[in-house]
Amino acid sequence: MSLKLNEPGLFRELAFINGEWVSAAKAHKFPVFNPSTGETLAHVPDLGAEETRNAIDAAEAALAPWQALTAKERGSFLRRWFDLIMRHQEDLARIMTSEQGKPLAEAKGEVAYGANFVEWFAEEAKRIYGDVIPAHGPDKRIVTIKQPIGVVAAITPWNFPIAMITRKVAPALAAGCTVVIKPGEDTPLCALALAELSRQAGIPAGVVNVVTTLQAPEVGRTLCEDSRVRKLSFTGSTPVGKLLMRQCADTVKKVSLELGGNAPFIVFDDADVDAAIAGLMASKFRNAGQTCVCTNRILVQAGIHDVFVEKLNAAVAALSVGDGFADGVTIGPLVNDKAVSKVRGLVDDAIADGARVTFEHGSTPDNPNFYPPTVLAGVTPNMAIAREEIFGPVATVFRFTEESEAIAMANDTPFGLAAYFYSRDIGRVWRVAEALEYGMVGINEGLISTEVAPFGGMKESGIGREGSRYGIDDFVEIKYLCMGGI
Ligand code: ADP
Repeated sequence: MSLKLNEPGLFRELAFINGEWVSAAKAHKFPVFNPSTGETLAHVPDLGAEETRNAIDAAEAALAPWQALTAKERGSFLRRWFDLIMRHQEDLARIMTSEQGKPLAEAKGEVAYGANFVEWFAEEAKRIYGDVIPAHGPDKRIVTIKQPIGVVAAITPWNFPIAMITRKVAPALAAGCTVVIKPGEDTPLCALALAELSRQAGIPAGVVNVVTTLQAPEVGRTLCEDSRVRKLSFTGSTPVGKLLMRQCADTVKKVSLELGGNAPFIVFDDADVDAAIAGLMASKFRNAGQTCVCTNRILVQAGIHDVFVEKLNAAVAALSVGDGFADGVTIGPLVNDKAVSKVRGLVDDAIADGARVTFEHGSTPDNPNFYPPTVLAGVTPNMAIAREEIFGPVATVFRFTEESEAIAMANDTPFGLAAYFYSRDIGRVWRVAEALEYGMVGINEGLISTEVAPFGGMKESGIGREGSRYGIDDFVEIKYLCMGGI
C-alpha cells in the first residue's frame, strides 16, 4: 500500500460479513485503481450470490437483537460511529481521494457530510413516534406504532463513496434494521473503512455487512429476489434503478431510489449575476461535475446572457485541474475512462449540432481520465447534451426570453431531482419555485445537500427521501392497532 494513513487498519482488502473479514469462496479478487494515476491501490474480493446469501443470513440473524435494543442504545452506537468517522476524517479523505479522485479538501468535506447523517440519525432514533388516533367508535381506541422494516439492501455508487452509504445505513440502523451494503465497484475501500469503524464503534456482528463485487447484476438480483430482504435502497443510474425495481416486484419490496437528474439552473435578468456565477460554479463543478444534483443545463435570460457567459468563462479559467492530493486543485479526474468517453461524445455531438465552445481549460494533466473544464454556449433542447446527464465538468448555456419559456424548458425532461434559479423578484421566486417539477429547488443557492433536509426526486429521478426527519420513514412499517371492547 502506497497510501499513508494514521491508522493503517482502515485500509481493508477483504469484504465484511457477520463481523468478520472474508474473502471470496473461489478466492476471486478485483483491482481498485487510483483514477488520477492509474496505479492499482488494492484488490478486494469479487463475491457472488453465495456470499451475498451469507450476508443476508447474518443480517437476518442480527435483526431481532438489534431491534430489541432501546432507541437510545441504538443511537449511542451511531454516535460512537460518528465520533470515529470524524476522528479519522483525514484518513478516510485520503482513501477517498485515492480511489475516487476528488480533491482532498472536497473529500474531507464529504467525510464530514457523510458523518452528519450518522449524527443526525443517532438523534432521530429517539424520535420515531407513533400516533394516538381518535377512534371511530366509543368502545375502541386506535394507536399506530412504527417498527423496523427488516433487512435492508443498500446499493450505492462511486461518486460519494461515504455519504451515499451513511445516508442509507444510519437511518436504517436508527430504525432497528440491519443492512447488506453493495458499494460501487470503483470505490469499495471507503465502504470497508466505514465497516471497520462500525466494528470499532461496537455495532454488533451482522448489523452492517459489506459485499464487494464486480458482479453487480448477480449480487443485485440475489438481494432483490431474497424475500428476507424487505427493502432496497439504491442510488445510481435510472436504467439500473428501473431494473432493480422490476426485480423487487416479485417479493413486493419497499424501494427507495435516488436516480439520475437533469438539473436546470435558471438565471433571470433581475438576478445578482455574480452570486449566480458563484452558485453555478459550486453546483456545476463540484466533484468534477459528477453528482446527480449537478447543474446540467444553464438557462440564461437574453438581457444578461452575454455578460453571464463572459463571467462564466473567467470563473472556469480560475479552476485548477490536477491530482486530488496536490495543493489548490479544485477539479480532479473523472472516475474512469468510460466516463471520459461519454462526456467527450456528448460535447462532440453538441458542437456538430451547432453549440460553440466559449472556453476550454488549457492546463489539464495529460492522463486519459482528465477532462478539461469547458463552457458551451448556443446549446438547444434537442441536443443529446441537453437530454442526458453530462456527469463531467462541462457547462452548457441555453438562451431564453420569457419566464414561462424557462419553466417549460426546465420541466421538459423525464427527470425531476434538483433545480436552481436566481432571481430577486419575490413574486417570480414563488411562481417559479412552485412550477418546477423537481424534488429540490435551490433559490439563489447552488449547494443544497444537507442532512437536515429531505433529499430526493420526482418523476424518473426516484422514489423516497433521504436525510431529515422524513429519512426514517422509508425504513419503518406503520402498524395500526385497533383495541375494541373498551
Ligand atoms: P453509475 O453509472 O453511476 O456507475 P450505476 O447505476 O451503474 O451508476 O451504479 C450504481 C450502483 O449500482 C453501483 O454499485 C453498481 O455496481 C450497481 N449496479 C450496476 N448495475 C447493477 C445491476 N444490474 N444490479 C445491481 N446493481 C447494479
